[in-house]
Amino acid sequence: MNVKQDERNIKADIKRAVRTEAHFGCAVCGNPIIEYHHILPYHKVLCHEIHNLIAVCPTHHYKADRGMISKEQLYGLKKKPFNSVKENIKDDFFLGSYDKLEFKVGALSFIRTPNIFVVDDFPLISITRDESNNAIMNAKFFDNRSNLVAEIQNNEWITYFNEDQVWDIQYSGGKLKVNSKERKIFLELYANPEKNYVELKSNLFYKGHFFNIQPSKLTVGIERPKEPMQIMIMKGGKFTDCGNGIVLSSFAF
Ligand SMILES: [Zn+2]
Repeated sequence: MNVKQDERNIKADIKRAVRTEAHFGCAVCGNPIIEYHHILPYHKVLCHEIHNLIAVCPTHHYKADRGMISKEQLYGLKKKPFNSVKENIKDDFFLGSYDKLEFKVGALSFIRTPNIFVVDDFPLISITRDESNNAIMNAKFFDNRSNLVAEIQNNEWITYFNEDQVWDIQYSGGKLKVNSKERKIFLELYANPEKNYVELKSNLFYKGHFFNIQPSKLTVGIERPKEPMQIMIMKGGKFTDCGNGIVLSSFAF
């Protein structure tokens, strides 16, 4: 039996209940990018039950796995997660309402547009709505050899090839930063809850190309030689109710 594999196979309705209980963030710090931690270890209980699961970010998952957060503390946090405390409410529902959210990619902005960044019909960054109409994040992180090394799937953090990549995922004051080792791959989101927008900066790989997204330009290239092959300057524009945001075709570069 592959315990590691089974550990990940938590049913969608159980995950939904656990992340709703945590008010859609890490129970310890509010980070919207979460994993599901078994308070009594999975290899002992061999089942996924709501009362034994807690939503935590990768950093606090690491600490919980190593006993740096006690089981008693975790049970306490299930009852009173970070995002349930009134003073923390500003960071609650990180991306906010799906219908209202404006997703800024440089000078372009997209509203109710699920596929934010697409290469060859493959969405690398997308936003979907959950059962409570909150916007939730999806992103695929490939390395330069086209291996899918990690992803954010409905705000859940999933890694593959653990040995190769050391990820740093930080969240505070509406800023989410996901960085691979040496920042080769990164995704940063800056939320402005008052104005209902988030802004993206990112460096992603797909099919051996890198895509560097900055506030006013998008650079596409291959890692070696380091010279970018193509730079696109973004001019302003607001798009609402589109299926796709930025769409690139690898035939073009
Ligand atoms: Zn956390």
